[in-house]
Amino acid sequence: MLDLIIIGAGPAGITAAVYAARKKMGFIVVTKDIGGQTAWSGDIENYTGYQFVTGPDLVSKFEEHMRKYNTSLKENEEVLELRKKDNAVYVKTNKGEYKARTAIVASGKRSKELGVPGEQEYKNKGLTYCATCDGPLFSGKDVAVIGGGNSALDAALQLMNIAKKVYVINITNDLTGDPVMQDKVKNGKNVTVLNNTRVSAIMGDKMVKGMKLSHEGKEKEILLEGIFVEIGLIPNSGFAKDVEKNAQGEIKVNNYNHTNAPGIFASGDVTDVPEKQIIIAAGEGAKATLSVFKYLSKLKYI
Ligand SMILES: Cc1cc2nc3c(=O)[nH]c(=O)nc-3n(C[C@H](O)[C@H](O)[C@H](O)COP(=O)(O)OP(=O)(O)OC[C@H]3O[C@@H](n4cnc5c(N)ncnc54)[C@H](O)[C@@H]3O)c2cc1C
Repeated sequence: MLDLIIIGAGPAGITAAVYAARKKMGFIVVTKDIGGQTAWSGDIENYTGYQFVTGPDLVSKFEEHMRKYNTSLKENEEVLELRKKDNAVYVKTNKGEYKARTAIVASGKRSKELGVPGEQEYKNKGLTYCATCDGPLFSGKDVAVIGGGNSALDAALQLMNIAKKVYVINITNDLTGDPVMQDKVKNGKNVTVLNNTRVSAIMGDKMVKGMKLSHEGKEKEILLEGIFVEIGLIPNSGFAKDVEKNAQGEIKVNNYNHTNAPGIFASGDVTDVPEKQIIIAAGEGAKATLSVFKYLSKLKYI
């Protein structure tokens, strides 16, 4: 039987894998993609050792490190269910089933949806949730970023250099993200911030053509070719059936990354550990594997 199944290959899962390889555990990594949210990040200026690195470049460094250990990687595979039964964990995916003594859930977060008419219809037809991935497709066009926090500011900063015009549609009185990023966005020559503004519908024919907005009780329309939804994130924890979660759906862990289910551990953004950052997720991934190692040693499996 495998010692460990790691679910997710963002900073938490990749670091957990590096530590598991160095402890010579029998393990696999099951993941939808490599890099997670870090791959969507434009400029990273707070990962120690790199004064500046782009998200995709940091991900390729992470991946190179993990692959150096010949990690058994089940890529493009989605975990549908994680269950604890007797002394084993069972992971059901869209491609098969795996069994191990332990699991680390490192499945991070995904983008929240707007929930307005037209959103589902125009997904990937001008409406997207990832500026890093899709920004370059909107060169010289008018676009909008929806949101006012760090993710929205990061997207606006990237798009300022690509698009002709960038609207930032923010539901509150003022932007809420990092003050340094706020300044850069507010001073952007081709940026207009619309505060106290709510999106009420996405318009288009074959592709996005614009959106309907509601501002202080008044309705208005703006014409656009691209819409980037950046209104926050929700944890990818639905598949973890036997573990306790908080009201936001984050998996509750103790200082040793144990969940309430013995043998199931969790790390990174999917947990209730405060502050969602790359360096924190990576550190939590390392800690989770070291806790798994202690757990297996205590049970005399390794
Ligand atoms: C736009 C943006 C900019 C950011 N900029 C910064 C920054 O500058 N500095 C910083 O420190 N942090 C930044 N962050 C936050 C940082 O990216 C996250 O804190 C970090 O990536 C969390 O790592 P993680 O491994 O916990 O989760 P994630 O990065 O979310 O990775 C989760 C992994 O799990 C996989 N997965 C999810 N569900 C399943 C499933 N059901 N089955 C299989 N696999 C699954 C995903 O494919 C992915 O590989 C930014 C975030 C965003 C969105």
